[in-house]
Parts: sequence; C-alpha cells; structure tokens
Amino acid sequence: MLQQIYPQVPHHFQYELNKDMQIAAAHFIPHEAAGKCANIHGHTYFVNITVAGDELDDSGFLVNFQHLKKLVHDKFDHTLMNDHKDMFNDENSNDFPTTEVVARKIWEIVQNYLDTLPNQPKCLQVFVRETPTSYVVYRPKAGKQ
Ligand SMILES: [Zn+2]
Repeated sequence: MLQQIYPQVPHHFQYELNKDMQIAAAHFIPHEAAGKCANIHGHTYFVNITVAGDELDDSGFLVNFQHLKKLVHDKFDHTLMNDHKDMFNDENSNDFPTTEVVARKIWEIVQNYLDTLPNQPKCLQVFVRETPTSYVVYRPKAGKQ
C-alpha cells in the first residue's frame, strides 16, 4: 500500500480507526464541463476511511476492517461507477461519479452501516485520491450525524 499522510480530523473520540483500500474502477462524467472526462476511462482510486468512537463491540472492534472493505471495495472494484444506479443517477440529478460525489457516497454507505452497530461509531472522513495529483476529502457537516 502506498504510504500516505492523510488530513487529520479533530475530534474527541477515544478510538480512531483508518482503513485504506485501493479500487480499480472506470467512470465518465456526462457533462459538458467535464471535457475529456466525459469519455469512459479508469482510475486506481486510493480510499481512506476514518471511523471513530468511544465504545468497542463485544469482540473488541470499533468496526471490523473486513466489513468496511466488503462494503466499499467489493461494491466498486472492477466496475463502471456509472453502472451503480443506486448511487449515481446521471439523468435526474447531478450525482455524477466525480471524486467529490464518490467520496460522499462512500461516506453514506459506511455511516449507514455504522448506524446499525450497537457501539455507534461515526465515519468522520472519507479521503479519495483519484490520481497522483488529485484528491478529495469528504466530512459530514457538524451536527448532521
Ligand atoms: Zn476520471
């Protein structure tokens, strides 16, 4: 795994967990502002997910690393992002699979799962690097969790 320094999220939780994953996926941005990104092309995305909380579950986990990987990596790896119609609706909204929207959707997937856990961990940040020179950080608005 590429060694990376990620932006830190200030918080007061006792535990913070970070899960890195690498996702090979294709996408296109069907909008005139996208230029050549309107053509289908691929990226190796580097994703970092930050989860925090004060309570561990029965097995001593804040959240199981493998479950995070299953939720996000297994959903998107070797897919065409635009095919995930539950995530990216290219007809009725502007939720095209840009790096920004991909980061927000990953946050939604992770937080929806965390909401089902008895120890109630929070996803504080999703970092998505699309290319060696471009990345996005998504954080939920304070008070929205
Ligand atoms: Zn792209």
